[in-house]
This record gives sequence, structure tokens and C-alpha cells, in this order.
Amino acid sequence: MKMKKLFLACILLLFSFSKLFAQNSNYWQQHVDYKMEVEMDVKSYQYKGKQELVYTNNSSDTLKKVYYHLFNNAFQPGSEMDMRLQSIKDPDGRMVTKIKVDGKEIKQSRIANLKLNEMGYLHVSNFMQNGVAAKTKEIETILEVELNQPIFPGKSATFTLDFDGQVPIQIRRSGRNNTEGIALSMSQWYPKIAEFDFEGWHADAYIAREFHGVWGNFDVKITIDKNYILGGTGYLQNPNEIGYNYQEKDVKVVIPKKQKTLTWHFKAPMVHDFTWAADPNYIHDVVTTDFGTTLHFLYKNNPKIIENWKKAQQKTVDLMKFYNSFVGKYPYNQYSVIQGGDGGMEYAMCTLILGEGTLEGLTGVIAHEMGHSWFQHILASNESKHGWMDEGFTSYIEEISLNELSDKKAANPIQSSYNAYYKLVESGKEQPLTTHADRFDENRSYSIASYVKGELFLSQLEYLIGRKNLEKTIKRFYSEFQFKHPTPNDIKRTAERVSGAILDWYLVDWTQTTNTIDYGINEIIEDATSTKITLQRIGRMPMPIDLTIDYNDGTTENFYIPLRMMNFEKENPTPNIKRTILKDWAWGNLNYDFVIEKPKASIKKITIDKSGLMADVKRENNVYEK
Ligand SMILES: [Zn+2]
Repeated sequence: MKMKKLFLACILLLFSFSKLFAQNSNYWQQHVDYKMEVEMDVKSYQYKGKQELVYTNNSSDTLKKVYYHLFNNAFQPGSEMDMRLQSIKDPDGRMVTKIKVDGKEIKQSRIANLKLNEMGYLHVSNFMQNGVAAKTKEIETILEVELNQPIFPGKSATFTLDFDGQVPIQIRRSGRNNTEGIALSMSQWYPKIAEFDFEGWHADAYIAREFHGVWGNFDVKITIDKNYILGGTGYLQNPNEIGYNYQEKDVKVVIPKKQKTLTWHFKAPMVHDFTWAADPNYIHDVVTTDFGTTLHFLYKNNPKIIENWKKAQQKTVDLMKFYNSFVGKYPYNQYSVIQGGDGGMEYAMCTLILGEGTLEGLTGVIAHEMGHSWFQHILASNESKHGWMDEGFTSYIEEISLNELSDKKAANPIQSSYNAYYKLVESGKEQPLTTHADRFDENRSYSIASYVKGELFLSQLEYLIGRKNLEKTIKRFYSEFQFKHPTPNDIKRTAERVSGAILDWYLVDWTQTTNTIDYGINEIIEDATSTKITLQRIGRMPMPIDLTIDYNDGTTENFYIPLRMMNFEKENPTPNIKRTILKDWAWGNLNYDFVIEKPKASIKKITIDKSGLMADVKRENNVYEK
């Protein structure tokens, strides 16, 4: 079994290295090899560990400093996360308590009220670089290390450190004893080296969101009370010493009564994070599939939820099958769905999700969080800077897949997302997608920007280059940028390479500005036998135009107006209906007209973009009806 895994790891590595050079010979990324040993005290929720990190500098810079994240330190009264929580207009409901003061409802920061034994911390001591002490400085959630020797391009250094942590009462994502009763949800729990890439250091303080990590290999040993059952990132190396349904068939695991703890040994090849959860009351189901990935489900032995968790298992298999065919093969042979008791968050090879509620809710969260395995884990874009690439693209495949697997299929499964975007535009609170995830004025603006507008990026790309090209773009993007850190330009260039269209204007207007799309039908003027139709560009953002004319005699005709700056003609999306390609429309012209050789009286209805895929903020003027 071990050999097989080692072989897979080698294949993964070879594969990823060949990919590194496939696209851009200038591309580089740092590499890490973590070894950690940690002991968890399940009574005090404190843990102590040792970490060895071999850090390889593949950049052309000589590094004199490195930075680590110490995420736990955010969960302390007065932290930057606490301050942000207290000042934002629409705080995350999970992070506040609603109280009444003089009959008025007030939202109080839950972090502000944490007692000493409830807050989180993570401290580092005894830091060494290649066996020699180096100077460190803790700045709340960031550790700054002044190296005693610079790391030259192409060279590696070994960092060793001891860490001391306390698991906070769960406020968000990571934590203990949450409302669903999960003992330990251990995400962002260890000193995690910050990413250094072509943009420099990404040593973002932990204020709310999100994550960006270095690709590498993890070897983690967790020693914990023997009654606790674990799930998480990585392949368990000693299943026959552990049991709990991890052991090989027919193996009977006997743990001596005297033994108090178990040491769980995990290895995870080519990931950029390591997460785990533990509870003495987990049920652990294992589901094998015909596509080689074994699925693990860990959830509380709570009669209220067991039936849903059983039913969700086949759905998870179906969802993964769909993602494998729609995006590309999931490369690890394990994935775990774990009740973590707070929302849902994606991690390497696993997710921690809420476990109670309806089956539909549970399946929806699994569809979303597992979708992140493709968009953020394997295609590891920087979530803090480009949330729309992971949240948006994940939302897109989630809704496409749920629609595909549902009995009732919607024509546009993401119509509600278009509506949410229109509402945000109307509110005047939209900020460009290039805004850092922490610096949106309101949580709502962040959510709609990254989840919805990111989703519409792909959906609208179908309008621009056609369904076949969109599907090819998604597959090619995955195959060329997996195990890397793709940027917005990479998805745009992939779509350009696939379709031949020029799309820079699309990336710029949609993600770097809040320009909106508004095209309208301006005038319909009748001649003796013909009709002149005048269209108008009202919004700033350019778009090609699909236009449909329905005639009184029941026939329909389509027209396509290419956008000049796009230099492209889309394949007819509805080949059963006659389509005429008209002269292109240059953006600088506010007006555009064309003539049809039919009287005005024969026209029943004219529609700009019948598909609804173009996010036109004012659809009323898209339709002329007699
Ligand atoms: Zn998400």
C-alpha cells in the first residue's frame, strides 16, 4: 500500500514539474516539505508541536526574511479581526451575538468576549535556520523571521521550530466545541509559511479571509487521546494501528487498555495546506468508487443527522464524477467530507462543513466545498486577491452540477446569481473584483463580487465564445495550471487560446472596474419594404450582441453583431434557427443600425440576448414588443 502511494506521489510530482514548463518558461513557485509532530491535550485544548520545514527558494530573489502565519492569534479580544468585526456594517452572523440594549438590537463581537481559556493562540519558539538560531518577531497573526543566512536563488534551507497552541472556542472555521458539538476543527492550526511569488510576500494578517499557501509535501504525526477519531488532509500511514474503520479488511485492531493515546501518521503529497478534525463521537464511513478515489465521511453519531449523511454519500460520488468529467480528473485517491460544525470551508483533500439541517442543504454544501478541490486547491489561485476565481468558478460548477443531477432542470441554473448581481449594482455598493478580500466595505459586497460576479465571469464567457469553447477552456485551464498558482490573466489567455478571440477588454472591464453592461433597442423605423433597427450602447462595458426577431407568422430569425475589439465570430449557439452575422460594432459608436427586408408590421418581438447570459443591468430596454 505504501509503495503504491509513493508511486502516485512521484507521478504527481513529475506531472506537476512537466506542467511547470508547459506554459511559461518564466513561471516559478516556491516549494516546501513540512514534517510536524504534535501532541493534543483534549482537556485543556492546548497543543505542543515541533516543525521541520525544508524551504526551497525557486525565485530569482535572495531572501533575507521569511514570514509565517499564526492564524490562531486572531481569536483574541482586541485583535485586528476583532476590531474589523466590530466596525464592519454587516458582520458575519456566526461571529457575533445579538443582544438587546434599551430595546435596540446590537451585534456584539464574540471574539471580544473570549476568556483566557477560550481564546486561541499560536506561539513559536526555538526557531533555527540550518541548526542556528534566527531572530523572530510575532506581529499578532504574522511571524517575521530575520534569517541568519540569506537563501540564494535555487537554494534550500531547513527551518525548525517549536510551537505552542490553544484551540479557540469556534468563532469561524477553526476551533473547538462548536454549536454542532464537534470537539476539534483544526484548520489553520500550525505555523504556516506565507507564500512568496512573482508579486512578492503575501504575509496577509488574518482579519477574515482568505488563504494562499506554498505547494509541497506534508508529513504529520498527531498524538491524541485514543478515543478521538480523526479525519482530514493526507493518507493515514498506520491504519492498522489506528482502526476506526481506517484499517485494512479483516484486520482487528486491539489497543491495550493501558495505552492512553494514539499517534495518527498522515502524509499528503503536493498540497498547500493541512487540516484535520477530531471527535470521540464520529461515525466514519468509507465509500469506494469506480474512478479510484476513496471517499471518507466523518459525522457525529447523532440520530437527527445520520440518515442525511448516509443519503449524501452516493450524491457525493455522483458530484465528483461530474466534476471529473466537466473539469478534469481529481488527482488524489482520497477525499473526506467531515462535519466541522461551522459553515463550510474547503481544505486540501477534505472539507469541514455544517452537518445538521436538510439533505438538500447538506448536498449543496458538499457540492460547493468539494468543487473547491478543483478551483483553489488544485488550481491554487490567490484567494485573498482573486476570490472570484475560486468562489466564483466553484459556484459555477456547483450550480451546473446540481442542475445536471437534479430531476427538474432549469434553463439557466444560475439565474438567481444574475439577479443578485443586478441588485448589488443597483445598491451602488459594488467594488471591483480586484479589491483585496479583506477590504470590501461590507461582507455583502465581497460575497456578491466573489461568488456571484466570479460565477458570471464564466457564464458570460459562454455568451462571448460559445458553450463548446467555454467547456474546452475550463478543461484546458485545469490541465495546464494544476498544482500551480494561476492568475486572472491565465484564465483569460486560456480562453483566448481555445477560441481565438481577444478577451483582454473582458477581463479588464469585468474584474478591474465596476463598469456595467446596458444595451438597448432605440428605434425601429419603417421604409416601404424594409425596417431599420437602431440599437444603443448605454453602459460603459462593451459586448457583442445576439439579437432575435420573432415574426407574426411564427418564424424566428437570429442576428449576431460581433464586437470589433474582440476580433471574433461566435459559432451559432442555436443552429436550428437561421442566423445572420452583421457588420461588427465598434465600441466608440454609441449607436448601431441594421436593416431587415421585412415590414415593421411583420415583427412581433425583438430581443437582445434571449439567452439571458449577458449580464445586462437594464433588461427592460432589451425588448421591443408590438
Ligand atoms: Zn467557496
